[in-house]
Amino acid sequence: MTSFDSIEFDYAASLAKQALEHMNKHKVPPSPDNFSIWFEYAARSSVDLNRTIDVLIGNRKPFSEQTNSELVRIFLLGNDRGDIPDKVRSLVNRAKELLTNAIDSQNAQILSLRDVAAQADLTDPKALISNLLDELLRATSRAQNLEASFTSATQELDKVRETLARSDQNARTDALTGLANRRGLDERLHAAQIRAMESGDALSILLIDIDHFKRFNDTYGHQVGDQVLRLAAGVFKEQLRESDFPARYGGEELIGVLDSTELSTARAIAERVRRKIAERRMHRRSTGEELGAITVSIGVAEFRPGESIGDLVERADQALYQAKRSGRNRTMTEVDLDGDIAA
Ligand code: GH3
Ligand code: MG
Ligand code: MG
Repeated sequence: MTSFDSIEFDYAASLAKQALEHMNKHKVPPSPDNFSIWFEYAARSSVDLNRTIDVLIGNRKPFSEQTNSELVRIFLLGNDRGDIPDKVRSLVNRAKELLTNAIDSQNAQILSLRDVAAQADLTDPKALISNLLDELLRATSRAQNLEASFTSATQELDKVRETLARSDQNARTDALTGLANRRGLDERLHAAQIRAMESGDALSILLIDIDHFKRFNDTYGHQVGDQVLRLAAGVFKEQLRESDFPARYGGEELIGVLDSTELSTARAIAERVRRKIAERRMHRRSTGEELGAITVSIGVAEFRPGESIGDLVERADQALYQAKRSGRNRTMTEVDLDGDIAA
């Protein structure tokens, strides 16, 4: 769910306003639970929630009391994966049942064959062979049925596995930009820190903040602001290598984790990203009106073996602050800091 730490008051207020507008439009009673759902929808903090509501709206489904409480149960009470353990449990039970049946039918088959042998009239080999054949045919058909049941159980298990993988991926993705979210970022930074310590390779990060974004939102509205944020994220991703990791750090701040990259290279990459974003000309989709150019400021820092991730991000943040103070639309690294604290 959305954390308020990184969201300024006016942005949260604008989300609340959007949530109430949506609720009003779709005649959703303004209960606290319903409000929470629609606030998350406006904040786009869950890909699954937004997709579900968009599908409901697209299908012109009314937001009935039942639909609203389902949304709350699934997305607010954190039960969106609640049915998965049940599914897995029932599949395991079915597999157990299938195995028990397989063993039973094997035993039954041995007994039948024993009966055939015991009652066999050895003077009539034709009848004996025919009886044995009947038993074998019955056994084959049982085996085929069992195989079909196993196949369908396996397919269901694959589906559950896919759902889990998708749900894991969604939990690490920011719905607005499609980049990794804080959760995905934290995991990646932790892994990158360990890798850098073990390999001795360099590791750098870029922290990007859009310049005067508040003003942009005030001029063109939050929705156009969102489009711009998406565009900046797209350009950022485009400019990085496959092995780099772009993420949304907070409101209108992006971050890049660059493995095996020294400060000077990271600085050059940051400059390329900054120039590409400034070069983009944006237009309002509905009217074609040209919007003011967007610029970004970037802070760059390189990991020092042994330090915490928090310290590394703090240095990038100081460099970013320095870039803002020096006039924005520029890149600063930790060595540009006043009272240079580089080792
Ligand atoms: P500065 O150049 O100093 O960075 O100025 P700024 O106006 O960008 O200031 P600051 O970074 O403090 O403000 C960020 C603003 O970005 C506040 C909020 O209105 C806006 N914002 C944050 N997240 C989002 C978002 O997801 N969508 C939109 N449209 N706006 C956002
Ligand atoms: Mg900011
Ligand atoms: Mg800003």
